[in-house]
Amino acid sequence: MARIIAIANQKGGVGKTTTSVNLSASLALMEKKVLLVDCDPQANSTSALGMDGKNAGYDLYTSLVDNENLSSSILKTDIDYLDLLPATTDLAALELELVDKEKREYFFKELLSPLADEYDYIILDCPPSLGLITLNSLCFAEELVIPLQCEFFALEGIVKLLQTYETVKKKLNPDINVLGVILTMYDSRNKLAKQVKAETERCFPKLVFKTIIPRNVRLSEAPSFGKTILHYDIKSKGAEAYLALAKEVEARKIVK
Ligand code: ADP
Ligand code: MG
Repeated sequence: MARIIAIANQKGGVGKTTTSVNLSASLALMEKKVLLVDCDPQANSTSALGMDGKNAGYDLYTSLVDNENLSSSILKTDIDYLDLLPATTDLAALELELVDKEKREYFFKELLSPLADEYDYIILDCPPSLGLITLNSLCFAEELVIPLQCEFFALEGIVKLLQTYETVKKKLNPDINVLGVILTMYDSRNKLAKQVKAETERCFPKLVFKTIIPRNVRLSEAPSFGKTILHYDIKSKGAEAYLALAKEVEARKIVK
């Protein structure tokens, strides 16, 4: 059975997509079978892998609306062990579509659960909001990974996300647990970043991953070439960090 991991933070630009794509690629390099699900209408995970849901004709929206299509919506990527359920901007319509559906929080779970047998990991790249798509991801996932950019107000955002998580766990999905907080875009020369790191480690001593993702220009360049950091520059600090994170994720299993 796959480990189902939601990468979520309602703040935009904190490294959700970068983490989803490069963690997925790093797990795939460890020969773990991974399905990356692009849950964000901006489709950044899809394009970061050099793919286009539109050309394929399917995305999470079409497959959710017409569930016959689900397995044909899954695209093989150029990377061994890594498949993608792509997104297009049509996915934005899904939030509206779901509003008056019964059991609307469990739509992803119903449709994606059958895939859990086929993969070691299902990674969900969430959009930057706490709307219905993120809620669906949290109701399907068993593990939550929170990317946190070391900047002012970072902790306030995380407190709100953790409140949502607690509500989901209590009322909708008792199986979910926080796997960890991953500090991203860390610049050790920046005093504020150091303070946020120290404060996060103080508030969540058990949750912060040992691996820290440094600010690394190679990581920001890679998506424009449709490549993961491992395929763009395997020797970069960014690649090193995501490979280390994958090992930590693999080792840090939540005991059920
Ligand atoms: P989110 O999915 O949370 O909106 P992204 O992963 O898209 O965030 O990251 C936001 C921007 O920051 C992107 O342009 C991305 O390339 C860049 N970025 C992410 N992580 C890093 C990093 N560690 N170093 C440098 N740039 C990064
Ligand atoms: Mg994103």
